[in-house]
Amino acid sequence: MKRFFACLLTFCLALTAIPAFAMLTVSISDISVQAGEEIFIWYNLPEDGQAALSLINEAGQTVAVLFDEWQAAGSYEYGWTGTSGRDALPSGSYDLELRQGAGAVRLKLMLDHPTAPQGTVAIPEATDTPAVAEPEPTAAPQPVSTAEPPFNPTPALRSAYSHVHEPGTCYWCTPMDITDEETVWKMLTSPIYTLNEEQMKQVIVREEPSEDSKGIAVVTGTSEGVHVLENRNDGWSKIECYSSSFFDSEVKAWNEFVTGYVKTSLIQKKTPDQKYALLVDKLTQTLYIFHEGHLLSTLAVCTGLYNPKQPYNETRTGEFILVSRTGDLKSDRMTSRYAIRYNSADYIHEVPHVKNADKSLNYKATEYKLGTRASHGCIRVQRLTNPDGINMKWLSEHVYVSSKKGSRLVIWEDFQGRQIPIPSDDTPLYYNPKGGKDYHTSATCPGALSKYHPMTAFTYGELDTGIYASLNRCYNCHPPRRKADIEEINNLHKTQSPGMVSDYHQ
Ligand SMILES: [Zn+2]
Ligand SMILES: [Zn+2]
Repeated sequence: MKRFFACLLTFCLALTAIPAFAMLTVSISDISVQAGEEIFIWYNLPEDGQAALSLINEAGQTVAVLFDEWQAAGSYEYGWTGTSGRDALPSGSYDLELRQGAGAVRLKLMLDHPTAPQGTVAIPEATDTPAVAEPEPTAAPQPVSTAEPPFNPTPALRSAYSHVHEPGTCYWCTPMDITDEETVWKMLTSPIYTLNEEQMKQVIVREEPSEDSKGIAVVTGTSEGVHVLENRNDGWSKIECYSSSFFDSEVKAWNEFVTGYVKTSLIQKKTPDQKYALLVDKLTQTLYIFHEGHLLSTLAVCTGLYNPKQPYNETRTGEFILVSRTGDLKSDRMTSRYAIRYNSADYIHEVPHVKNADKSLNYKATEYKLGTRASHGCIRVQRLTNPDGINMKWLSEHVYVSSKKGSRLVIWEDFQGRQIPIPSDDTPLYYNPKGGKDYHTSATCPGALSKYHPMTAFTYGELDTGIYASLNRCYNCHPPRRKADIEEINNLHKTQSPGMVSDYHQ
C-alpha cells in the first residue's frame, strides 16, 4: 500500500501544478435525465477543499446532496442516474449546484421518471452526509450470522477516485461478484475504451499531461481497455489502468494500477461482441464463459506465477478484447494449442503438452496444475471436456475474435480480503463406487466412463468422511475444492493480494 499512497501524493502534487482548473465550473452531458440512464456531470475545482454537489428544487429546497466532501483541485467526471441513494427523485425541473468555499455555480436540468409515483418517492433531507456514499440498505433482515459479509471490490479498488458509474456500465466500477449474473453480463457487453495502436505495440502512460513527463505504465494497443476519467481540453486524457509491462516493455510496472495521461486522439470506443464474453478470476483460477446474458459454463485455468526474478510472469489484470487467433504456440518442447491473443504476448490457450514417441499428446506435466497459478503470464485453459461438453477447443470455435469487436475477456485481481464462499453441505457430488478415484459435479461427467453413468450421489458435507475422504478432484468437471483447501486460499487472502507484484518489491 505504501506505493499506492506515494502515487496518490505525487498525483495530488502534480494536479496543483496544472493551471487548467482556475475556475469553478459545472457542465452536464445531457440536461434531460431519464430514469435509469446514466449522464455525466463534469466539474472543475480551482482549489483543494470541501466541495458539494446538490440538487435544488423549484421551491429552492435542497432535495439531494450527491456529495459533500474534501476534494483536490482538478477536473472530475461524475456519473449519475437521477437518483439519491436508492430513491428516484420526482420528475421536474431542478438546479444542479456545485459549491466550493464562497463560490457556487448552477445549471438547470430536467428529471424524467415516468414510473416513479410522486406520492411514494422519499425525498431525503439535505444533510452533511453525501447521499450516494451511504451504504445501501439490505433488502430484507438477514439471519444472524458470524460470517463476515462478502468483500466484492471493483477492479478500480486502488483508485484515488470515488467511482460512481452504475455497476454493470463499466468494468472498473462493477463489483467482483460472479453470482450477480445480470450485472456481470451488462458489464461484459458494455463499451470498452482501447488505444489506437498496433496490437503488439504499447502506449506509455505519462505521469503528467506531457510527452516529456515520466512514463508510469504501458497499455497494449488495440486490445487493452482503459478507464477514461477525464477528457481535457489540451489534447490529453486522464485514465486509469493496470500496466501491461512485459520483461521487454519500456516501463517496468508489473501489473501495477496507475492513474496517468495518454493522448485523447488515441482513445477509441468499441462495442465488444454481444454474444460471448469471458471472465477469469485469479482468486478461483476459473474461467467463466458467458453467453447471451447467462453464465454458460466454467473451466479451470492457470494464470501466471511470478517469482522475484521474473516479476513479469504475473498475469496482467484488466479488460481486453480477443484480437487474433495464432494457432499453436511453441516454447521449448511444449506446444499450446488454440491460442488467442488478448494482450500483446499474453494469450488464452489450451494447457501445454509435449509429444510422446507415438505422436500422442502428453499433458502430464501441466494438467494437474489447473486451478492454480502456474503459467508465465498466459491463461492456460483445460483441454478435457467438462460435463457441458466445453473445453479450450470448443471456446476457440465459439468466441468471436476481431480487433474491432471481439469477445471481451475480463481478468479479476485476487485482492486482499476477497474470499471463496464455502459450498453448502447439501451441494450434490457424485462418484463411481466401482473403483472411481475422483469426485464430480455431475452424475454423467465425462471424467468417468459412460458405462458407470449415472454415478452415485453424495453431498459436500460428507466429502471429508469415510470413503469420500480419499477421492480426488476430477480434472474434467473441477468440482468444488475441499473445505480445508478453500480455507487455505481464504487465509492467504486475509493478509495478501497475491497478484499485486509491487507490494512485494518495495
Ligand atoms: Zn467506471
Ligand atoms: Zn468430473
